Amino acid sequence: MLLPNRPLRFSSSSRHPIPGRPGFQPGPPPQLPARSNPNFLAYKTHFLSPTFSLVLFRHASPIRTRTSTAAAGVRERNKRGGGTGIFTGGVEREIEGSNSSKMMMGAMVDNYVVGTLLASLLGSFVLFHILRRKTTAEKDEIRNDCVRSSTNGEVRPEGGPENDVVIVGAGVAGAALAHTLGKEGRTVHVIERDLTEPDRIVGELLQPGGYLKLIELGLEDCVEEIDAQRVLGYALFKDGRNTKLSYPLEKFHSDVAGRSFHNGRFIRRMREKAATLPNVRLEQGTVTSLLEENGIIKGVQYKTKSGEEVRSYAPLTIVCDGCFSNLRRSLCKPMVDVPSCFVGLVLENCKLPYPNHGHVILADPSPILFYPISSTEIRCLVDVPGKKIPSIANGELANYLKTSVAPQVPPELHKAFLAAIDKGNIRTMPNRSMPAAPYPTPGALLMGDAFNMRHPLTGGGMTVALSDIVVLRDLLKPLRDLNDSASLCKYLESFYTLRKPVASTINTLAGALYKVFCASPDQARKEMREACFDYLSLGGVCSTGPVALLSGLNPCPLSLVLHFFAVAIYGVGRLLLPFPSPKRLWIGARLISGASGIILPIIKAEGVRQMFFPATVPAYYRAPPGE
Ligand SMILES: Cc1cc2nc3c(=O)[nH]c(=O)nc-3n(C[C@H](O)[C@H](O)[C@H](O)COP(=O)(O)OP(=O)(O)OC[C@H]3O[C@@H](n4cnc5c(N)ncnc54)[C@H](O)[C@@H]3O)c2cc1C
Repeated sequence: MLLPNRPLRFSSSSRHPIPGRPGFQPGPPPQLPARSNPNFLAYKTHFLSPTFSLVLFRHASPIRTRTSTAAAGVRERNKRGGGTGIFTGGVEREIEGSNSSKMMMGAMVDNYVVGTLLASLLGSFVLFHILRRKTTAEKDEIRNDCVRSSTNGEVRPEGGPENDVVIVGAGVAGAALAHTLGKEGRTVHVIERDLTEPDRIVGELLQPGGYLKLIELGLEDCVEEIDAQRVLGYALFKDGRNTKLSYPLEKFHSDVAGRSFHNGRFIRRMREKAATLPNVRLEQGTVTSLLEENGIIKGVQYKTKSGEEVRSYAPLTIVCDGCFSNLRRSLCKPMVDVPSCFVGLVLENCKLPYPNHGHVILADPSPILFYPISSTEIRCLVDVPGKKIPSIANGELANYLKTSVAPQVPPELHKAFLAAIDKGNIRTMPNRSMPAAPYPTPGALLMGDAFNMRHPLTGGGMTVALSDIVVLRDLLKPLRDLNDSASLCKYLESFYTLRKPVASTINTLAGALYKVFCASPDQARKEMREACFDYLSLGGVCSTGPVALLSGLNPCPLSLVLHFFAVAIYGVGRLLLPFPSPKRLWIGARLISGASGIILPIIKAEGVRQMFFPATVPAYYRAPPGE
């Protein structure tokens, strides 16, 4: 079992009322007394535990409020030493103080009350067990294919595991984490499915906030020697107009800026750097399952490059197997949403209208992105709403790009865009979002996209992953021994709260901005989109505030909400000035309600308390085990 069972507790001093449960003692069936028998209740409760007696007493009390209350019963019970005798005493006293008809009524009503209570208790008990069995079976069904017992037919190495940490996956999160924990002196075993340089269209623009985290982790040299490009801000295009939004970098060292690159080159550099540490072992292999023993994850089973099935043990297993994670199902509730897909092209022999800037085109039906990935190449990502994209094989996608997308591309890039389509190297990737919903599990942790995803429109994924690694590193720092899995698991619950302000701001911004930037036939949504473009074009705090959020330089949840609703109010103000008409008032009201409908569900999924008031969450203050 991964989650601890919490069985109903019955007092050890009493017999259990349910056959088949521990403590149940069969005996002669109690003879039912006449309903008028004043000792009926007392008699009937002989086979109940003190807990049950108290429950019955409490429920019966409203009927007898004149002479006996539940509180008085508890006091009485305490005085006499507990158990059914006290309950009997309470009933006896009550009956002594009543006339005979009330006495009969009381006993009859009590009889039904007790009967009903017993029946409902038994019913709830049976229902609870049926439901528990069902949910456990469902969970087991999910877990069985990714979790297995660690004791199944293999002899464990003597003297405990040789690693402190096993990391599954050496992508952005896994490679950075391996180096970080290795540098902290941990013995780390990283298992990566494919150690050759990845060739992907994901994770190519690191926001300045992410770069700051890279510096904190001592990994900033991994963006050197890969022809990475400095990114200084964004340019926004809409209906032939454009505006430049610079990152607010004035207060930082001149080196601090965004970086864009080939994702595979960046990962290669981080893997190489991690592998230089003598206590980090990077191995090619595909992890097939997590190993579990008494609810604790003990390590992983994996297939080596040569096809051999082997196991690796450690007190802490960190799963970083990315957005398609097979292993997360046992460690979190994966509520994955796929609002759209990105179609990726590489443009050559052209120059961006704003060099060293990301470009966002507010196109129809949804945004198009351009940013440099080397000194000679520009990445283009075309968002296609929905889970399905036109077929590449039969040329439908190329046709769609040429006829629907190309006319919306800035003229400077048009020729190169058509040439890239003709070249044929078209890649696609689903855009997933998934709020973090972990099942805290002793011995295991999720990181990176396996744990939490957001729409990639704002390029926030790597920043969140690196920021999470900084939080985890700082939490683990004071711990020398990771072997007490239960205490460690409880302590690491603080990780989920401490990461929230940064992660949830970036996640919420990505989800909300994607919805605002998509075209819509709805007039209120059109107004919101227009208002957003114009608000950002105002300059000053109206552009630096939102850009500071997007860049990860100031990931403050309150600032996000304020700017979001400022855009909505700005939109309504424009509608109502100079002369409000009923129609405009109506559109304004729908704009506000639409804006709320966009952002509030995302915030709810992130967790309002953790996002805005993390200090009120008890886990926030967890001290390291042993302190
Ligand atoms: C289209 C798109 C564009 C994006 N653009 C950006 C961007 O510009 N900026 C940004 O910050 N973020 C971006 N993101 C998000 C970013 O790519 C992710 O947040 C980031 O890559 C997450 O890193 P990760 O280590 O969790 O996953 P990955 O980098 O995907 O690494 C997972 C690793 O696990 C390995 N693995 C998987 N299964 C196993 C197994 N069973 N056994 C062993 N190894 C395994 C894989 O081979 C892989 O190396 C984008 C995402 C998408 C979809």
